[in-house]
Amino acid sequence: MENYLDLLNEPQRKAVEATEGPVMVIAGAGSGKTRVLTYRIAHLLNKGVDSFNILSLTFTNKAAKEMKERIANVVGHSEAKNLWMGTFHSVFARMLRVEAPLLGYPSDFTIYDQQDAVSVMSKIITEMNLDKDIYKPKQVLGRISQYKNNLITVRAYHNNQALIEADAEAMKPRMGDIYRAYVDRCFKSGAMDFDDLLLRTNEILTRFPEVLSKYQERFKYIMVDEYQDTNHSQYLIVKALASRYENICVVGDDAQSIYAFRGANIRNILSFKQDYPDAQLYPLEQNYRSSQNIVQAANTIIAHNQDQLEKNVWTSNEEGEKIAVYRALSDADEARYIASQIWERQISDHLQPKDFAILYRTNAQSRALEEALRKRGIKYRVFGGTSFYQRKEIKDMVGYMRLLINQNDEEALLRTINYPARGIGQTTISKLLVAADQHQSTLFNIVENISMYAPTIGINAGTSNKLNDFALLIKRFQVMLKTHDVYEVTMEMAKATGLLRTLKEDSTPEGISRLENVQELLNSIQGYVDEQKQLEDGDASLSGFLENIALATDADNTDEDDNQVNLMTVHLAKGLEFPVVFIAGLEENLFPSMMAVNTRAELEEERRLFYVALTRAEKVAYFTYSVSRFRWGKIIDCEPSRFLEEVDSNYLDWKNLHIPTQRNSNNSGLSADLFGDDNYSAPARYSSESREKSAARQNPNIRRATPTPPKANFKPVGETKSTSANTANH
Ligand code: ATP
Ligand code: MG
Repeated sequence: MENYLDLLNEPQRKAVEATEGPVMVIAGAGSGKTRVLTYRIAHLLNKGVDSFNILSLTFTNKAAKEMKERIANVVGHSEAKNLWMGTFHSVFARMLRVEAPLLGYPSDFTIYDQQDAVSVMSKIITEMNLDKDIYKPKQVLGRISQYKNNLITVRAYHNNQALIEADAEAMKPRMGDIYRAYVDRCFKSGAMDFDDLLLRTNEILTRFPEVLSKYQERFKYIMVDEYQDTNHSQYLIVKALASRYENICVVGDDAQSIYAFRGANIRNILSFKQDYPDAQLYPLEQNYRSSQNIVQAANTIIAHNQDQLEKNVWTSNEEGEKIAVYRALSDADEARYIASQIWERQISDHLQPKDFAILYRTNAQSRALEEALRKRGIKYRVFGGTSFYQRKEIKDMVGYMRLLINQNDEEALLRTINYPARGIGQTTISKLLVAADQHQSTLFNIVENISMYAPTIGINAGTSNKLNDFALLIKRFQVMLKTHDVYEVTMEMAKATGLLRTLKEDSTPEGISRLENVQELLNSIQGYVDEQKQLEDGDASLSGFLENIALATDADNTDEDDNQVNLMTVHLAKGLEFPVVFIAGLEENLFPSMMAVNTRAELEEERRLFYVALTRAEKVAYFTYSVSRFRWGKIIDCEPSRFLEEVDSNYLDWKNLHIPTQRNSNNSGLSADLFGDDNYSAPARYSSESREKSAARQNPNIRRATPTPPKANFKPVGETKSTSANTANH
């Protein structure tokens, strides 16, 4: 067995060994917080604690999986097998499968994803005859999400005058009614959205003391990673579960709190000390991840924030290269530069594609980057964005699968009832919806008993037969599911519903790729079934499979091949590390985001995001920005991000700063290569001037360059040591 205690420094080891009582580790990026949690679990198991009694909450399911493998390597697979590890959502969805019937939900409840939720909300807003420009479905859902994550139920809302007034002032006086309708609708469909998974868990733990007691006994040891990003609802769950044994260990970094917009509450860190006054605190200060340059540059960034706990992060790693700053002329140019750097470094530094990450603020930025990587023939994968499970053909197929286990799932029913086309039109569907409403019944119930309802709701015999056939089709597979494995049933269903046939008929490249996707889904079902059958406590059920895919986070990329360049938003990069990191699009209104510069609090969250981005890098980091960018369908001028000015220039290496006189003259002063082959024509005027001038006031290298530029590529004042290396690099 590996002696894991030797793989820890002194404070880390103490945190690992302090298994009894409340423990909090608030420490900077790369200081080994996740490592402490991992070895702490191994240590518990090693001491003889049953894996059944350990609960560990991570930010992504992938992180949980990696942690579990690491632990299994230390203590053996059989010791680790019963560990409950995963995101809050997946862990408590699993618990709700058992307990949700207490609240009147079916145990096979459906999990509505954001797309389902938006669809339900749009219908409600239409039915209520409200203006969609005022009641924007996504916005309304965001507001409801806030209520739920603060445990404000429909009833609590209606008793809360302050909230009612706030919504009325925000021109949304009908919020309360919408909230009620939305909750009713989901409940009737036997469905929970993501926030419900936490809200209902809280409800059960509060209303049913014997259930609370059962889980308190079960989870004698609780661990939470990325604690700074838990919301109030999550905080309360953890608090309730831990209140009997108080063996709780939370680790996090206030400087990396980046989900306030989704209700994460940094006060949870402060509350921890109040909730457990005798909590043991272990500060970790040594960063093992990054070079000195990166650690120090990151320290100078976060120092600009007023709201932060004092921390001293240092590293004994080598000094490393300065952070290269590249000023591009267009997003295409930026992407080309990044691709070329990756290309060169693969050779010069013996790196593999997986050693690189390109981080950006918004998903839309990936397009140009992907194109440049493709042109170079560099393998890459994009996290987030439109995930596999959001594709139409996959959602259609999954719609049928959902209907099999929960026929009340209205979203699934509406998606499948006339796809593939079987002559059930919109008018018929509207009539069915009205009937369901009138009879206080579910949609499926009306369809199933259509012969009874048809005459009163004005549906003719032909249509009635079609509806009947549809209900029988679903019923048939529900029966088959009792005796056959999930793969056989779904395969058979894909054929019998006509779904495969419809896809096969489309021989366009898009059609072929849709068919391949469905095949891929079927393969993954097969894989899932096989995998689960091998596990002692495996769950090879259809609902198990559906739960897995509903809760796959954007960070849980399904791509098997992981030796690829990683493209993702900064939000998704939390907790990860890569030898080389590019932070692209460092421009005003992009990073920091335009939506987030109005208040200091918002700006500080953006700055923490920038801090998270930089601290992902182990050896080399790049900052890139462009003076123009294709956004919202046109080319716009951009200014460099204020964050670039905030980094101490001693840690930066400005690669190609073109000075204003050159910019205003013809473009011959610029390398022709920068324009590349995409017929980019530089805008006549760069509005980036003002920002660059102000940057020049702060950055000595810019100041020096402004009067008489020696050459386009220059170095900060006083820098001698790494000049040659940097030049060679360029
Ligand atoms: P973040 O705040 O980004 O989540 P973290 O504090 O969780 O970071 P880890 O990911 O646990 O940090 O550790 C960062 C890196 O340093 C990892 O590669 C880890 O293996 C390594 N590391 C941590 N502690 C030690 C140690 N004592 N000896 C050697 N390597 C270590
Ligand atoms: Mg971590």
